[in-house]
Amino acid sequence: MKKIVVLTGAGISAESGLKTFRDSDGLWEGYNIEEVATPEAWRRNPELVQEFYNMRRKSVLEASPNAAHYALAELEKKYDVTIITQNIDDLHERGGSDNVIHLHGIITRSQSSKNPNITYPIEGWELKMGEKCELGSQLRAHVVWFGEAVPMIEEAARVCGQADIFILVGSSLAVYPAAGLIHYVPYDVPKYIIDPNIPYISSDDFIRIEAKATAGVPPLVAKLLKE
Ligand code: NAD
Repeated sequence: MKKIVVLTGAGISAESGLKTFRDSDGLWEGYNIEEVATPEAWRRNPELVQEFYNMRRKSVLEASPNAAHYALAELEKKYDVTIITQNIDDLHERGGSDNVIHLHGIITRSQSSKNPNITYPIEGWELKMGEKCELGSQLRAHVVWFGEAVPMIEEAARVCGQADIFILVGSSLAVYPAAGLIHYVPYDVPKYIIDPNIPYISSDDFIRIEAKATAGVPPLVAKLLKE
């Protein structure tokens, strides 16, 4: 069975109503990332950070997968598929994909602020100050902040190296180390990029599909299922 590796970013969830990150002047839902998505922000104002991610979690729970998420799940009928997502939403899983690597964590889980390996599912949308892990430290969202290690990056790089076909959807390729993953894909495999506003890409062998995810992904999946 051929292996398809798909790397997705915030753009794939845009049409599910979840705002992307860099589409609005470098702000994420009106916030500077330094205010809400760094270890310093958590030290400075944990209530604000908790509230920010509670709001993001609420939006994620209210959102539904779109045609692009569903189409990628269809690929599993014929291919060995791994999705590597930078997204903290769970729309790939709800869209039916079985094999998803979350590079930046997942917002539906909480994480110990002492040991990032201790995580728990969250009931509902709200994680409260005062809710603690088994070590007695405050629980935070299970997401990777800017300036934190990306524990899944080595596994993701290894998977990229096994790709027979590579698809990139909806990422500005501005966030590292995720953006560097494209360089682990073997040079001679077909590579596709789907984005309505294709970012600068240092590798020139991508087949460019300039379209929104829901318009670009289903036809590509249909073509790959026929091959
Ligand atoms: P980004 O916001 O930096 O870039 C989004 C990309 O998606 C852009 O290239 C844009 O042209 C494209 N795009 C916009 N609408 C699209 C559509 N309808 N279909 C396809 N593409 C579309 O996103 P990034 O590269 O993923 O980096 C953002 C970081 O912020 C990630 O690390 C992620 O953890 C976090 N984030 C996550 C979510 C989420 O989980 N849904 C949302 C916002 C930000």
